[in-house]
Amino acid sequence: MSGVVIVGAGQAAAQAALSLRDGGYQAPVTLVGEESEQPYQRPPLSKAYMLGKADEAALRVRQPDLYAAQDIRVVTGERVEAIDRASRRVSLACGGELAYDHLILATGARNRALPVRGADLDGVFMLRTLEDARRLRARLTTARRAVVVGAGFIGLEFAAVAAKSGCAVEVIEAAERVMARAVSPFMSVFFAQAHRDMGVVFHFAEGVLAITGADGEAAEVHTTSGRRVAADLVVVGIGVIPNVELAEAAGLATGNGICTDADLLTSDPSISAIGDCASSPSPFADGPVRIESVQNATDQARAVARRLCGRPAPYGAVPWFWSDQGAHKLQIAGLGRPDDETLVLGDPSTGRFSVCRFHRGRLACVESVNRAADHMAMRKLLQSGGTPSMEVVATPGFDLKAFVA
Ligand code: FAD
Repeated sequence: MSGVVIVGAGQAAAQAALSLRDGGYQAPVTLVGEESEQPYQRPPLSKAYMLGKADEAALRVRQPDLYAAQDIRVVTGERVEAIDRASRRVSLACGGELAYDHLILATGARNRALPVRGADLDGVFMLRTLEDARRLRARLTTARRAVVVGAGFIGLEFAAVAAKSGCAVEVIEAAERVMARAVSPFMSVFFAQAHRDMGVVFHFAEGVLAITGADGEAAEVHTTSGRRVAADLVVVGIGVIPNVELAEAAGLATGNGICTDADLLTSDPSISAIGDCASSPSPFADGPVRIESVQNATDQARAVARRLCGRPAPYGAVPWFWSDQGAHKLQIAGLGRPDDETLVLGDPSTGRFSVCRFHRGRLACVESVNRAADHMAMRKLLQSGGTPSMEVVATPGFDLKAFVA
């Protein structure tokens, strides 16, 4: 038997391999990752690792010797170049080939580049890989003025760390509010103020025209409003592009990600796709979604492993996410929609509250700040399929945790 080959050696890939072994899968399992690292977790890169509170060993998904102990072959620093679906083989950049019975694509995503002059100057960074984080962390030790382009999760997490490290931080954001794609307007207002309290300055509804420098080093960011913001460090966090090219070249269906069905199978029944690269149906969304989160990567990996171990079930895990920004832990359970109605539980002035988002009158998503009990309760509710109506949540004294109990 050729077994399972997994393309990518990130969070989803590592989980799939480990879950295959947990589920009793006996044939060979091989991970091929183009980074030169053993599988590691990305979330601490913009949080504890960037703050100097976690070392590289703490990032590992598992200790490297555990893979060997489980008879999982991890090939790092190697790129899968092509898939030959007819012969069920992948070809590697080194010239070798690997045969598979089943192929799992866990190719993740890459950062969207800032398409302006000066984006390649020294001092301009993006943050996706451990290598990016090593270089950025080193630069942060001497930086005085940081400009963050993009007020998404990663940009804001970095802004909080940079402010804590003593940098003056300015954030340039094309939208009118922070985390606009992901959180409710109420939550955006709260987090913008929380960052201002840390000393962060925002420029909303502005883009970047160019970055200029002296002696090859970034020195100024020029914005669409004519502003020139001084910077000795620029971090670009303007979203990601799913790595679909390998799948596309093999003739698999792709869109905003590699398209899968509810079982996470691609248009070829011998190939699954999971994690940041996959666009899949979800009972919590109106159509296929591509979710960039650890929960999605690990739960999809477990679901595919279960299927390959003979226990198939459609994927339907509850989506959840977290982000740490300064003293605030944001946790999100469920998926919000732009036209959601909202209600707030708790008192935002205490820094502990939740925004309840309603879709067609029923609770669909809860965004919590420093209120883990609400987050956990919402995950249970979504799991059970029985979320309360807006009228119930609006009842004075309503308590989400008590409602679940
Ligand atoms: P990845 O982790 O991106 O792994 C894919 C791997 O495949 C990469 O190493 C890539 O190089 C490799 N690859 C691609 N193509 C090939 C090929 N052809 N051959 C070989 N290898 C290939 N999520 C949260 O839920 N909470 C957080 O707080 C959070 N914080 C984050 C902070 C940062 C800085 C980043 C970057 C991400 C964060 N995320 C967070 C998102 C989370 O880390 C991702 O959703 C998760 O890593 C996705 O896992 P994955 O395995 O699908 O993709």
